[in-house]
Amino acid sequence: MKSINQEKLLTFTKDILSIPSPSGYTKAAVEFLKKEAKKRNLVHEVLKNGNLVITITGKSKKTTGLVAHVDTLGAMVRSITSKGELKFSVLGGPILPTYDGEYCYIITRDGKKFTGTFLSAAPSSHVHKDSRTLPRDDANMFVRLDEKVKSKQDVLDLGIGNGDFIVLDPKTVITPSGFIKSRFLDDKISVAILFGFIDYLLENNIEPKNTLKFIFSTNEEVGFGASYIPEVDELIAVDMGCIGEDLSCTEYDVSICAKDASGPYNLDLTNDLISCAKKAKLSYVVDIYPFYSSDVSAALKAGNNIRGALIGPGVHASHGMERTHIDGVVNTLKLLIAYNEKN
Ligand SMILES: [Zn+2]
Repeated sequence: MKSINQEKLLTFTKDILSIPSPSGYTKAAVEFLKKEAKKRNLVHEVLKNGNLVITITGKSKKTTGLVAHVDTLGAMVRSITSKGELKFSVLGGPILPTYDGEYCYIITRDGKKFTGTFLSAAPSSHVHKDSRTLPRDDANMFVRLDEKVKSKQDVLDLGIGNGDFIVLDPKTVITPSGFIKSRFLDDKISVAILFGFIDYLLENNIEPKNTLKFIFSTNEEVGFGASYIPEVDELIAVDMGCIGEDLSCTEYDVSICAKDASGPYNLDLTNDLISCAKKAKLSYVVDIYPFYSSDVSAALKAGNNIRGALIGPGVHASHGMERTHIDGVVNTLKLLIAYNEKN
């Protein structure tokens, strides 16, 4: 195994995390990935469903798909109250109490941006008896706009309306100790890992064993990301590994998922990945994810004739204030490299 350009990978990570891409509003992120593909002279195509596919031809007739999703959690304006507050509907399944106090901005249908803050309906401890206890759910939360609005009409006059997207500040920080703290590491960290793999192949002049189709999906958080995929023999989802309870994964490992809520992953492909991790002496774990499904689940449910597996770096506090470590990122990338070098 040759060396990995960690610095380039981390720069890419910061870049992609800084582009908001809640499910349904992923064009700018896909445009960024398209530009990165162009820079590297890669064969690429944006599908009608918005997903980007990059192809690198390999030595064999077999095709391996590698999928990571670029869409994230977020929210949408559901209604405007008579006081000029925004009620919202979530995109995907966030831990809503973690939205409380988060800075965000609203993107109107004609592209205007307005800043705001997610708050509970009892936001002041000096006024509201239940400021600490009110449930942080969508019935009891709203977005406070940073505009002088007193009524619904004031908000409408700004051009804000129902169905406008609300995106959250990802608050990305990379610490000297190697931790990557940010919202939406699920799954942008894996998008960066796939580009890290592409760069590894290009910079070392490696022709992959199988033809590789890198799929960047755009609706995974709402369940149908990779429901349509180009013709592949097998599909490996690279998505965050779960951490917590009796799971064995840490932020330093690559996690290989044996089973999630959608069922067990393919026996042979999963075994192959485990044996590659073992042989390459990677820090890896095999786990079951209780409340999870992946782009492979979506592809299989849509009827694709593939074998599928799921791997990814351990991400702590997923769908909340997420964190991983460069070690987990490198172990995941090394597993992709090892799988490509197999045989
Ligand atoms: Zn994910």
